[in-house]
Amino acid sequence: MSRYDRQTRFHPFGEDGQHQISTSQILVFGAGALGSHIIDQLARMGANHLTVIDMDIVETSNLHRQTLYDEEDAYHLVSKVEAVKNKVSQINSEVTLTAYDVEVTSSNIEDIVSEINPDIIIDGMDNFKVRFLINEVCHKYEIPWVYGAAVGSKGTVYGIDYQGPCLKCLMQTIPETGESCAINGVLPPIVSIVASYEVAEVIRYLSGKGFSKQMITIDAFDLGYKAMNVDILKNNECPVCENHQYDLLETKQENTIEQMCGHTYLFRMPKHAFDYSNHFPGNIVKATSFAKLIKYENYEFTLFKDGRMNAYGVHSDEEASGLYHTLIKSIR
Ligand SMILES: [Zn+2]
Repeated sequence: MSRYDRQTRFHPFGEDGQHQISTSQILVFGAGALGSHIIDQLARMGANHLTVIDMDIVETSNLHRQTLYDEEDAYHLVSKVEAVKNKVSQINSEVTLTAYDVEVTSSNIEDIVSEINPDIIIDGMDNFKVRFLINEVCHKYEIPWVYGAAVGSKGTVYGIDYQGPCLKCLMQTIPETGESCAINGVLPPIVSIVASYEVAEVIRYLSGKGFSKQMITIDAFDLGYKAMNVDILKNNECPVCENHQYDLLETKQENTIEQMCGHTYLFRMPKHAFDYSNHFPGNIVKATSFAKLIKYENYEFTLFKDGRMNAYGVHSDEEASGLYHTLIKSIR
């Protein structure tokens, strides 16, 4: 019996759907909470050509909601894409997984997308800026994509095609799940629900049924569900899907300091920071060839080989800026 027998018996999907999913190039942005669930399901379903992009390492605080990873990965500071590769090869050896261990920015997103030439893109990010970048690149290259977000107990899913409405059109109506998980944290069930709805939209699309054209909002604590027909939300003056104006893609300059999820900031340090990290104030508590954990006062830093640094325990932009300059001075 085929390993996919139980899913191909479902007629609306069937052998055709199986053929499509196994031959399509599927690109997943992010291998965190949503991304790892999405990749897990797609690999099991026989999505044989998967690409994943992520820049983080596995941390213990990820394990409550991020499938595919375990304590061993967190202990060894394994990069998420490396961990994904290992797990997926054990789940389904037919899957060819291409992994990019990079930060997605306006400077590299077009190169990555052109290189892979995906049939569909799935958002597994928790970063709104990158989502709007994905929105622009998908419209520019006419690639369908599925937006998904989970924060607190709430989640939103929406499959977006070239005609729109695109994410920019919906900006006014994006529920609070579209914001950051800074204040609200996130409950594991909403992550798997959102990831599953995203995969469901992918399955619909690849088996020729098209996206549902609904924006779905779910609450995994109040157990509420809403589906909104999105056609009325099309902005006829949308800069992206009406006027082909890709402002984010054209802005190649990245900020050196950026607020991330929670009390976390991303510092973009010069590349030599990794080699000179013993000059930083505080102590290096763990080090591998691609990441170092540093503790300084009440802060914790994860420093990556390319100079990126996650700074934890930072409560305001001013604090972040002061800290960044202290660190930079120490490696001059
Ligand atoms: Zn639009």
